[in-house]
Amino acid sequence: MKLYNTLSKKIEEFISHEEGIVKMYTCGPTVYHFAHIGNLRTYIAEDVLERSLHYLGYQVERVMNITDVGHLTSDSDSGEDKMLKGAKREHKSVLEIADMYTEAFKQDCEKLNILWPDTVVKATSQIDAYIQVIQTLLEKGYAYVSGGNVYFDTSKLKDYYKLTNHKEDDMVVGVREGVEYDEAKRNQADFALWFTKSKFEDQELKWDSPWGVGYPGWHIECSCISMKYLGEYLDIHCGGVDNIFPHHTNEIAQSEAYLGHDWCKYWFHVEHLNDIHGKMAKSSGEFKTVSLLEEKGYDPLAYRYFCLGSHYRKTLTFTYESLDTAQNAYKKLKNKIKSLSREPDLHESKIDYYQEKFKEAINDDLNTSMMLTVLYDMLKDKELTDFTKLYLTEDFDKVLALNLIDEEKEVNIDEEYINKKIEERNEAKKNKDFALADQIRDELLKDNIKLIDTREGTKFEVIE
Ligand code: AMP
Ligand code: ZN
Repeated sequence: MKLYNTLSKKIEEFISHEEGIVKMYTCGPTVYHFAHIGNLRTYIAEDVLERSLHYLGYQVERVMNITDVGHLTSDSDSGEDKMLKGAKREHKSVLEIADMYTEAFKQDCEKLNILWPDTVVKATSQIDAYIQVIQTLLEKGYAYVSGGNVYFDTSKLKDYYKLTNHKEDDMVVGVREGVEYDEAKRNQADFALWFTKSKFEDQELKWDSPWGVGYPGWHIECSCISMKYLGEYLDIHCGGVDNIFPHHTNEIAQSEAYLGHDWCKYWFHVEHLNDIHGKMAKSSGEFKTVSLLEEKGYDPLAYRYFCLGSHYRKTLTFTYESLDTAQNAYKKLKNKIKSLSREPDLHESKIDYYQEKFKEAINDDLNTSMMLTVLYDMLKDKELTDFTKLYLTEDFDKVLALNLIDEEKEVNIDEEYINKKIEERNEAKKNKDFALADQIRDELLKDNIKLIDTREGTKFEVIE
């Protein structure tokens, strides 16, 4: 697979640290509000990445955090905690809104067919891990205590800016939004690992630490959760482009200083979704959520289709007109697939050809619009039987996840045939040919017929 790597700034051949296994970390949502459809563009692209890796035969171990503490309104060290701001807005506790918006995010993911990662970790559940890593960073001389907070000393690294095009000068106060002069810092690029002193004294969640009662910085959360659940060598770290600096830059600084070696090989960043006002945000313009699209009559998967139509490394501008176009095309595509005959008539000759084409699209830095083109070309191919088209559509949909074949599977209940199969299976069991017995059971299961062995004999049940 070929992927663009923000670290090398090149499209590179992807080679996982351990053969056949991919360790993938995704920065999760800050659960102070609903996710907007811009956030979800990033999660859709990450989902396509995970599904593509599965398609190519990798086993993917994926971890995501839920940011429920430490993310300030500026991505740097100033501003109010976003969670606290959300809780005040809704007259609820931080934990209440964290649970509520985590659940809402999960539902959005379900609607958009975004796979929920195997391991999802709340930032507030890992305080001991942050304290341990911060302590080690202090012992190794990468961190210092000043003005009540613990800071990471960026001057101790050979190349703090290796992920980004930022220069040290950019950290001069006033050049970048959100960078405020902080006299406690040795270098203005340094960042907080642990806060005990915040300008906002009413921080709701605080924990004991060797440096006083306080709370972790946002960046240390992702470093620690990733290292704890995925180990010392990470294959792919994902997020939106706004995460490159300072968030991911700081994650690299902390993790590599702690581990003493390189940490994550590939950095996958998704460009922003804009609307006509500019970058989509929760605070300005119409707050566009999946629920809002549904209220306006859109199928969430039409939004997924809209996203797949453009490359993840290009900014995408959202308008309702372009979503209309996507929804119409998506409906037409589904109707076309629905009209295909279900007559079982599989022609194997061109299956490999189209699967190779589909893989080429994956290998081309996750070229989703090319994946769709392969699908359309295949559906137009007069040499293919309808059944072969259905077979390939189902296969490509493992990556596209557009529910292209979502009709109920027709279940043919031919009792005579099933009873014959049950007899054959009994015979096989009598002859101790358990492999054959299992094969008969599995074949029936594929047709949604489940065998149940009871004392009175084998019965069957149709799975809905
Ligand atoms: P947050 O909940 O703010 O921590 O963001 C969740 C994810 O959405 C992060 O990976 C961000 O980089 C990403 N993100 C934020 N804004 C946008 C946008 N307008 N378009 C695409 N992704 C975004
Ligand atoms: Zn993160």
